[in-house]
Amino acid sequence: MSALPLGGCPDGRTLLTARWVLGHGEGEHRLIPDGEVVIEGGRILFVGRRFDGEVARRLDFGLALISPGLIDLDALSDLDTTVLAIDHQPGWAKGRVWPQSYVERGPYEMYTPDELAFQKRFAFAQLLLNGITTAAPIASLFYREWGETVAEFEAAADAAGEMGLRVYLGPAYRSGGMVLEGPGRMVPVFDEARGLAGLDAAISYIRNHDGRHSGLVRGLLAPDRVETCTAELLRRTDAASRELGCPIRLHMAQGRMELDTVRTLHGTTAPEWLASLGLLSPRLIAPHAILATDADLRLYAEHGVHVVHCPLVSGRGGSMLRSFGGLRAMGINIAMGTDTAPPDMLLNLLTALITGRIAGGPNSVRSADMWDAATLGGARALGRDDLGRLIPGAPADIAVYLRRPSLGGDVQQALNVPALSMGRFYTGWSADRVGGHYTRAGRGNGDSRCARRFRHARRRVRVDQVQDHSLASRTATMDAMSGAFSSICRSATT
Ligand SMILES: [Zn+2]
Repeated sequence: MSALPLGGCPDGRTLLTARWVLGHGEGEHRLIPDGEVVIEGGRILFVGRRFDGEVARRLDFGLALISPGLIDLDALSDLDTTVLAIDHQPGWAKGRVWPQSYVERGPYEMYTPDELAFQKRFAFAQLLLNGITTAAPIASLFYREWGETVAEFEAAADAAGEMGLRVYLGPAYRSGGMVLEGPGRMVPVFDEARGLAGLDAAISYIRNHDGRHSGLVRGLLAPDRVETCTAELLRRTDAASRELGCPIRLHMAQGRMELDTVRTLHGTTAPEWLASLGLLSPRLIAPHAILATDADLRLYAEHGVHVVHCPLVSGRGGSMLRSFGGLRAMGINIAMGTDTAPPDMLLNLLTALITGRIAGGPNSVRSADMWDAATLGGARALGRDDLGRLIPGAPADIAVYLRRPSLGGDVQQALNVPALSMGRFYTGWSADRVGGHYTRAGRGNGDSRCARRFRHARRRVRVDQVQDHSLASRTATMDAMSGAFSSICRSATT
């Protein structure tokens, strides 16, 4: 392992091997016991067993799973202040909606430009530490003067490029915001010109940055919250998406405030409203869908809209997708989003399995379906048939999950235990990307370039903003591993 240049690109061919390799064939993942993955020049050269070519080095991870890097399409990149309201509902009573008096005074940026740049850098490091190699960041506009800025996304593109995280980026924009008029009375306040200017800035950002850092940075149009977007903003967004060839992410069927506001403004649900405008398409990625009606879901299926499932955030708020298996049976593609910090995708997959079975019945989903959503589902939503799978020619976006050594046993034992048993794994390494950049993870070791960058950046922000997210204290415990892996074994091949 010491042969590996942490944070750098190893020269020549590197052969990775482990007890399990999640390979790919005939359109689905296939588990390869004692498999090998050979990478060269940032691409995957070989996946299988007994590679007979020359290699510059061989890394045996032992009792581990070598998986495609995971894809997170709702990756939180700022403070998750919703955690403060978990036991303090409703959110509007706890200062999580702009009060009228604040709007009248004039909303302002609550973070400095440096803090905004740091948020993304820190979030990107966390994503890599969790085995997530492709991400579309998301942040709240509650703490912003209005939308996100080009400057912070320029910094984000550079951070992603330096760390080796594949990202879909674009500053979020909106036509309006929700304002609390009185107890429980929330109304949207619009500023159409500001929304359209935000879209123009996002378009120019994407034109300037799409494809940078060897293609790691791609564009994403991110209108924020459907209830505060006008039809004109969404029409222009759709046209820009066609022209730029980039996806749109728009939260829909997310919560009660959205439902009530869209019904008041447009007399229907958000998906039906967009359908009436002709704006549902396979370029649309729609996080949440937990309050989607049957009619909404039929529209998603008919128009190829992709859902991003964020089960942990939904579940802790008392709601769930109805249902994971049901959507898949309708032909709706499901990608995954962590949407909170830390971005523990494996915990999200376990939560998705649990809520999926509560909502749809015990036989409606398998844990392999969850892994598929976090890899192939995300790739499909992004229109990428080269991501989320280990195939020759694909970018070397790889996550290696190691078993926690103190538990003893082997991976097969962990895989065979019931889904809710604590097959405790942790991310020992997250390996990723073009060039085979590696990021040392876990246990606060001091070797990682991104850990060093994080510590450096952290000095510049208030400690109380990050103390609970300390990289040094993050051990990336993967309690959900046995559940997430158990039925991957269904397609084990030898
Ligand atoms: Zn979200």
